Amino acid sequence: MKIKTAIFDLDGTLLDTLGDLADSVNAALQRHGFPPATEEQVRERVGNGVRMLVARCLPQDAEDALIDACLDDFRTVYDRRMMNRTQPYEGILRVLKTLKKEGVAVGVLSNKYDLAAKGLVRHYFGDLCQITCGEKPDVPRKPDPSSTLQLLRELGGNPATTLYIGDSSTDMQTAKNAGLTAVGVAWGFRSAESLLEAGADALAHRPSDLLPLFEHGVFNAAAIGSAFTARSFGFTYFPTAQQALPYLAEACRGKTVSLGGSMTLRELGVADALADGSDLHWHWLTPSDYKQDAEVYLTSANALSETGEIVNIDGNCNRVAGTLFGPKRCIFVCGVNKLCDDLTSAIWRVRNVAAPMNAKRLSCKTPCAIDGKCHDCRSADRICSALVVHMAPPKGMEACEIVLIGETLGY
Ligand code: SF4
Repeated sequence: MKIKTAIFDLDGTLLDTLGDLADSVNAALQRHGFPPATEEQVRERVGNGVRMLVARCLPQDAEDALIDACLDDFRTVYDRRMMNRTQPYEGILRVLKTLKKEGVAVGVLSNKYDLAAKGLVRHYFGDLCQITCGEKPDVPRKPDPSSTLQLLRELGGNPATTLYIGDSSTDMQTAKNAGLTAVGVAWGFRSAESLLEAGADALAHRPSDLLPLFEHGVFNAAAIGSAFTARSFGFTYFPTAQQALPYLAEACRGKTVSLGGSMTLRELGVADALADGSDLHWHWLTPSDYKQDAEVYLTSANALSETGEIVNIDGNCNRVAGTLFGPKRCIFVCGVNKLCDDLTSAIWRVRNVAAPMNAKRLSCKTPCAIDGKCHDCRSADRICSALVVHMAPPKGMEACEIVLIGETLGY
């Protein structure tokens, strides 16, 4: 893995703590005669430490003494019930186990008071997180970078190979202040849009999206784009699938459009997004509906090299045929998981990742469907007949381009 160190936020990133936070703050409010806050209100008010959460749930003119008294009650209740409803987000344990297996050093940095942060991490994650650092009286809170940099030193990390992962604009600012790459997670307490506005370098919509970022690093889209445009391919980068869909719909509006067999296009919901504005042909929707001379051909690629090549492997070969001759415009739509360092690793990927996963999906009786590795088999079910490398746009095409999306898509 390119990334050697990870610093995770806790609430809203590793753990869904909202229920226990809301129950505890409401117990404190009730004790002092104030109305409860809804979970949605608590969600909006977390992120800057529990004192701020309590203060935000009290009337605006609440004096410090009242805030402190409520805070004491909150802590008493929370220390008792903080594991009642709290759970790791689905998929987080798998990510942490993978990071441990790959030797990535993992730290947790929280604005929650230190005792609670350490207790929760120990209980839910055991030794999957090496160091946990919560709020302490003598250390400035996030987004001040002091505690982040201290934690980074203790983990033995290097800023160039570290990801800071969190769910709030405070986290994104903390990462920026510490000179780290900021990854926003959209499953927590804040929206994807607010994370991008706060400077997220990459977004993860589900925990499994994090692993390709550890594998490849948060890539430099501009540098990768230059490698493709130097070869005369078009190149556009979108951080999210949601941002890419309007671009694809506009490219296809009023046109005859053919789609190659592609899990990426299926996961994106491209057929639905184009349904009203295009004359759509897709053999995955209507058997035998191949159109090799469409105005626009949408497909994906099995691998993209950061040196500007597009690599595909195919069995029936209608999919690669559409990328070579016939359509006026070909658009390869790819998730960031398709990126490889160079042509050699891209070819390795199509044979040892993409083809075996497709063989498994299609229940092929091939050795790769069993062990996930290519054996250059002679099986009647062999899924690979042709391996095609685009080194430049085919001469007969008006345009040939890559739409790269900063998410994990397809195989
Ligand atoms: S050649 Fe055979 S073993 Fe190799 S990826 Fe293709 S189907 Fe699998």
